[in-house]
Amino acid sequence: MSYKSAIEKLKLIPQSQKKYNIFCYINNDATKSLKHNSSLSHLKYKPLQNVICGIKDNIVTKDMPTTCASEILSGYVSPFDATCVKLLRDQGVTISGKTNLDEFGMGSGGVHSKIGPTLNPLYDDIPTIVGGSSSGSAAAVAANIVDFSLGTDTGGSVRLPAAYTSILGFKPSYGRISRHGVIAYAQSFDTVGILSKDIQMIKKIFNILDKHDFKDPTSLDDDNRQKLIDLKLHNSEMQSHTYRIGLPIEFINKATPNNVSELFNGFVERLLSMGHELVPLSIPSIKYSLPIYYTLVPSEAASNLSRYDGIRFGTRDKDTDIEGNTLFASTRNKFGTSVKERVILGNYNLCSDSYKNNYIKAQKMRVQLIDEFDSIFKLPNILTQNAKNLQYKTHAVDFIIGLTSAKFPEPIHKFNKNIINTNEESNDDEAALFANEFMNDIYTIPMSLSGLPTISIPTKDGAPVGVQVVGQYGDDERLLTFTESIL
Ligand code: GLN
Repeated sequence: MSYKSAIEKLKLIPQSQKKYNIFCYINNDATKSLKHNSSLSHLKYKPLQNVICGIKDNIVTKDMPTTCASEILSGYVSPFDATCVKLLRDQGVTISGKTNLDEFGMGSGGVHSKIGPTLNPLYDDIPTIVGGSSSGSAAAVAANIVDFSLGTDTGGSVRLPAAYTSILGFKPSYGRISRHGVIAYAQSFDTVGILSKDIQMIKKIFNILDKHDFKDPTSLDDDNRQKLIDLKLHNSEMQSHTYRIGLPIEFINKATPNNVSELFNGFVERLLSMGHELVPLSIPSIKYSLPIYYTLVPSEAASNLSRYDGIRFGTRDKDTDIEGNTLFASTRNKFGTSVKERVILGNYNLCSDSYKNNYIKAQKMRVQLIDEFDSIFKLPNILTQNAKNLQYKTHAVDFIIGLTSAKFPEPIHKFNKNIINTNEESNDDEAALFANEFMNDIYTIPMSLSGLPTISIPTKDGAPVGVQVVGQYGDDERLLTFTESIL
């Protein structure tokens, strides 16, 4: 990374912003901070002083607004930097701006933003979705105006836009990167992820951010980090040249369009030709992932978003919020549709009847899914007791693969039409399945429920269809090294 190439990237920003709507906020001081970092004497040398990044606008920064692409946080500036932002700044990274997203991370198209949709740089002719919710973070990488971006992934929001823009999108194991300063959507799922075209860059950034943070109660603590070290994942025995790779049948759908299946098959053939072994297997609970996710995630969201009442957080609607029993209502009406949908669903899920019938059941099913994942990986899960209890490690795979997305990214007008038609009855179940925005992340959600490290890799250079490679909990480094070997 040279100073000159960094300057070139910053120069391209206005033009890319106009074309693709990548940023909620552009950092006009970026050139100044790049110059400052590069001029530091060798004693104060910062290793990433010529590296440019974009930060998703739900990760707080003290010198730029953080809005979550929502009217309700319009103009909000945090008094502190998120831990991940601070760690990057300490290494000399320059932040080019805050990237666009589906409001509060809720969506999968990159269209639910108060500043309008992000457009996909792979499709200059027809305005096409980037995928969401980390839409601006993916588009910034695809448009070559940053070296990497940070996004967040609750149910697929790093991996899906990475797939749709043909770049790499890495969601680490839950808890390895601090969530302190990441505005919560659903805190038992939210994971900071890294998007880039360069696997070396992803490894470097992960290495910097992968630290325990006492400010985040869900950050993986040092005892558990020691357990990972004790697994000796870097030993030559664990660093094989050929791996056993599981292919869950639940990730194979007969409604997958031919052009997508062909790209996936091509990728699988490449793995086989490299000597890796493909193991067909079944993880039955994968098929319940979507209902589990949409029971648990909106419940956490409804609770997290209650703080935006215009008193504690949020722009207060001055005139009307205390008239006629409408306390908070006009302020909270600033939320967009996708947020309102989740708040309503979440509050319903937490009502006593639904809590008993659905919420608790969904929590149990989440544990069942984790147990099933544990039963097929060679490595134990350091967070569960399953290593002792599970006697049925018949498959003992190193990684799992499957598609990231079930289709190509759609033109914006078609995607929006499908959102509107979501509730319409359709005679064609499979068509309805693929028309529904909630189904976009059908393949990414199981790993979010289980907190597993997952990276989306383009099936082929430039193709907007990705393959996910998944590791056991905590096996992030081996996953990245394996990825490097198959690119
Ligand atoms: N599309 C999913 C949702 O809306 C996932 C979003 C995410 O990962 N932030 O919940």
